[in-house]
Amino acid sequence: CGIVGYVGPQSALAVVVEGLRRLEYRGYDSAGVAVVADGAVVTAKKAGKIGNLDAELAAHPLPVTGTGIGHTRWATHGGPTDANAHPHVSFNGRVAVVHNGIIENFVVLRDELEADGISMTSQTDTEIVAHLLGREVALGVELPSAMRAVCHRLHGAFTLVAVDAEDPSRVVAARRNSPLVVGVGQGENFVASDVAAFIEHTREAIELGQDQVVTITADTVEVTDFDGHPTKVRPFHVDWDL
Ligand code: GLU
Repeated sequence: CGIVGYVGPQSALAVVVEGLRRLEYRGYDSAGVAVVADGAVVTAKKAGKIGNLDAELAAHPLPVTGTGIGHTRWATHGGPTDANAHPHVSFNGRVAVVHNGIIENFVVLRDELEADGISMTSQTDTEIVAHLLGREVALGVELPSAMRAVCHRLHGAFTLVAVDAEDPSRVVAARRNSPLVVGVGQGENFVASDVAAFIEHTREAIELGQDQVVTITADTVEVTDFDGHPTKVRPFHVDWDL
């Protein structure tokens, strides 16, 4: 439902949770975050209001790092439980992913993953994306290329945002039939489902087109199509108040 990703010098956790709060108006049934710290992705997720996630984070604090993603979920596949909340983490612990939309062919892909010995820990359509990405990066494919390869296999509507435990410098996002905007800061960058998530930090934005992948670092924004060809971007200035 609501998505935020961040790379920069601030606490990613603080930026992402605040961003999720700014997207609350969209409605949701659970919320979660993941940060990259010391070669691992660490998640916290809770059914119910963001207040439940706040309580979880107070009880079990996440490391303060500069790279993170977050999600407020509106369940379509699997009930509103802690286990079904996003982010979902790959079988090998490398990749965490959040997702808006519906992966229509997830049953076929789940069967393929299960035949490969990977067992599911949730009832969501989203979890298969984490495992598909995890399988790619385990082969040595970098996350942006992994995202492009996986997007080619997905049917339906999706905004996806992912991080790789072994590459804290990047957040990678993709979209088809579901919105995704980049917030371009100074020495920090954002991705979100809506500019409201980052407007406190920057009003310079880029709207992603259909079937595009964006890779943000603290200093760079790179947009390609699903085949890896660089694409023209549509920058805009957010001059309205929210
Ligand atoms: N289909 C996904 C799920 O049920 C994502 C739902 C959403 O857009 O929040 O977990």
